[in-house]
Amino acid sequence: MLCKTPWKKGESKVVKEKVDLLIENAGELVTLRGGAQTPLLREQMRRLGAIKGGSVAIRKGRIVALGKTRQVKRRFGSEETIDASGKLVMPGFVDPHTHLVFAGSREDESEMRIHGASYMEILEKGGGILRTVNDTRKASKEMLFENCKKTLDVMLQHGTTTVEAKSGYGLTTEEEIKCLEVMKLLNQKHPVDVVSTFLGAHAVPAEYKGKVDEYVNLVIDDMIPVVAERGLAEFCDVFCEKGVFDIEQSRRILSNGRKHGLLPKLHADELSGLGGTELAAEMKAVSADHLLFASNEGLRAMAKQWTLAVLLPAASFSLMMDEYANARKIIHFGVPVALGTDYNPSCWVENQQITFAFACRKMRMTSAEAIAATTINAAHAVGRAQSVGTLEPGKKADIIVLDVSNHNFLGYRFGVNLVDKVIKEGRLVVDEGKAINK
Ligand SMILES: [Zn+2]
Repeated sequence: MLCKTPWKKGESKVVKEKVDLLIENAGELVTLRGGAQTPLLREQMRRLGAIKGGSVAIRKGRIVALGKTRQVKRRFGSEETIDASGKLVMPGFVDPHTHLVFAGSREDESEMRIHGASYMEILEKGGGILRTVNDTRKASKEMLFENCKKTLDVMLQHGTTTVEAKSGYGLTTEEEIKCLEVMKLLNQKHPVDVVSTFLGAHAVPAEYKGKVDEYVNLVIDDMIPVVAERGLAEFCDVFCEKGVFDIEQSRRILSNGRKHGLLPKLHADELSGLGGTELAAEMKAVSADHLLFASNEGLRAMAKQWTLAVLLPAASFSLMMDEYANARKIIHFGVPVALGTDYNPSCWVENQQITFAFACRKMRMTSAEAIAATTINAAHAVGRAQSVGTLEPGKKADIIVLDVSNHNFLGYRFGVNLVDKVIKEGRLVVDEGKAINK
């Protein structure tokens, strides 16, 4: 039976539910609703579920409701509101591929590249990853934590609310654990969510030069069991590349990682077509990353396994390469595509908006596709699709407000920070493009 509340003149007919925050009047509210179950493929990547004049109601860090402002405000009331008139509101960016924890810098190598040196030439001279390994081994945990905190602040200011972070500049059991512990601490202390990946097979350390199999044994017998036992990573990754780790070594590492509960990811076919794409599919990897030289067979196999392609166009740009991953073909083959920065000392970029600039211009992705690739598909690539990446009731209120009228600006205007506000789990943490400390 329906109970009717006695109605008095002058009283509001409906008692509004109280929420903590209402974002209202968004010029365009991009929800990407429905993308949480499986990654978005092909034309699904262009369906943004956009609402003009949209509103989001937030309580206890979660999204309670969303829709047209009039409808949402009829049901919900809040003392705190954000007027997003004329602005773009969308899920916070997820960056699914970074090498967050390192010490030092390599700006001089960038100069060497200008003069024509290649990535592998620099690595063979003891530069590149190995130089950063030396610097990182010398750095204390506290120093690394402070460095990374600054990096995460910059990422957050540019709209990234979840980030995947790889180890790989320690390359001994002790040093890899040090870096993974820094990530764990960052995840606890910093508003940005940090998802950890173990990448002990990032390079062969100098002390194992010419003894790659021995180093692979160390990764398998020593590092993986400790990392898994201490719960320091969710994923296991390998830099599968000519002159680094070959297909068989990569296979051994990934299958041992899986035995210990670490899900496989792979740096595949970045600098040469070694067959990493095929291996990623064979291993049912969560993602295969880079893919500049991926074969058609490999891509078809990936599509069958729902292995995500994490494309990193800023890395090509930073390495001054002419080649970029063939995003149009990869999307056409039905491989779900995500985009990341590849933040690392040879590609020092914290900003996912820069990824848009290259994805749209160099890989011919549309703004809508790039949005899907930096939000929900990126969330799938780091195992967070159930909690972030779309704006839907029940999900974390990780939301960004951009000072542009519609989503096409993301592939159009570049070189400045378009993010005006960042709401992380319902809390305003960036306002007018600046971090706020409440
Ligand atoms: Zn990488």
